[in-house]
Amino acid sequence: MKFNAPRGTNDILPPDTLKWQYIEKKTHEIFSNYNYQEIRTPIFEYTELFQRGIGEVTDIVEKEMYTFEDKGGRSITLRPEGTASVIRSFLENKIYGQAQPTKYYYIGPMFRYERPQSGRFRQFHQLGVEAIASNDPALDAEIISLGMRLLQDFGLNDLELHLNSVGCGECRPTYVDKLKKYLNENKEQLCDNCKSRIDRNPLRVLDCKNDSCQSVIKDAPKITDNLCESCADHFNDVQEYLDILNLDYIINPLLVRGLDYYTNTAFEIKDNALGAQDTVFGGGRYNGLAEEIGSRDLPGIGFALGIERLLLSLEAKDIELPVESGVDLYITVIGEQAKKESFKLLDQLRNKGFITEIDYLGRSVGSQMKSADRMNAEYTIIIGENELNNNSATIRNMKSGDEKEIQLSNLLEEMKQLVDKEDI
Ligand code: ATP
Ligand code: MG
Repeated sequence: MKFNAPRGTNDILPPDTLKWQYIEKKTHEIFSNYNYQEIRTPIFEYTELFQRGIGEVTDIVEKEMYTFEDKGGRSITLRPEGTASVIRSFLENKIYGQAQPTKYYYIGPMFRYERPQSGRFRQFHQLGVEAIASNDPALDAEIISLGMRLLQDFGLNDLELHLNSVGCGECRPTYVDKLKKYLNENKEQLCDNCKSRIDRNPLRVLDCKNDSCQSVIKDAPKITDNLCESCADHFNDVQEYLDILNLDYIINPLLVRGLDYYTNTAFEIKDNALGAQDTVFGGGRYNGLAEEIGSRDLPGIGFALGIERLLLSLEAKDIELPVESGVDLYITVIGEQAKKESFKLLDQLRNKGFITEIDYLGRSVGSQMKSADRMNAEYTIIIGENELNNNSATIRNMKSGDEKEIQLSNLLEEMKQLVDKEDI
């Protein structure tokens, strides 16, 4: 019998897990720096939450959800995204009764039944933020700059920020009617998928990659020319705040997000080096969402970043994250008595924060030294009967080859001198 991980899922193995830990650590640091707090919602929710919160006519709800009935007969769905859960939680826990706005972030796995390919998986990971209960355009700029800052901290400086406004319940319907009319007039040139989208979700036609559709789309009416006064003002203000932060952006009137609850600001950060799956993070305002799932009119804005895509982007640019694996000291032992004494030393060293390792396979000194090498040990020490009797041993710097005779009873102090540890 041979088992494989399900299609579209990945094992994340060491040493790669160190990169993940690094990304998560940076996320916690930077997001707290902007005063966002972490929220953890369940991995699964009742299916209706996503049907309502994402929208019935979206690709996610129509085709991509992992939905099943639990043993109690409830329809359950593995979360395909984070926003609906966060808003559900905000409403359920009556967080609106507290001081506003509420600024949350999350990190975790999401599940979508998609065709697996580079940068597209069935279980993938997002880190995201949501700022709830304020419609201030400065907050839109804050959210965008937060995402950009995170990427900059990882060394990604040359990504493109695409910006658009998708209007609101006032102006979008008029625009959608115009768009529908235009698309119907040019229906013959559209792909079958887009033909069927004209009535169901015409905005989605705008991001179809098909060549023939593209030629129709480029002359389509633009949402940015059809915004109501308050949406146009909001859009201008967002741009002004981005200018204040010196953030470059490209106005892209074709940028529509896949989810129906988006209003006003929409944005995507793209890395041209990534090919078809080029969006590292995307988001926008969703002033219509809270009302959709909780009959409370609350504005909100957020983004979600794909961690796998972030890693691909770093790889494409040969950027190494500053992660290190390795042990501070490998204790090579000769004989049983030495092993027992060393085992005690090992424990004391670990207690003081030194990453310390010992042999567990009864190997020869030579093989133990090879192990130390493979583990990237900074120092080794050989402890046998003689060393125990004389309370003295040789500690060796594996990189330089320098050796130093030390008193065994003084090993802790010596290590403190040798290894520069912040936490010691
Ligand atoms: P795409 O157009 O690439 O399908 P999307 O519009 O479905 O993206 P969102 O729902 O906004 O994406 O999710 C935000 C981010 O999550 C994306 O920008 C991407 O980085 C990542 N992401 C989305 N779907 C996947 C997936 N199946 N595998 C890996 N990452 C994904
Ligand atoms: Mg998608």
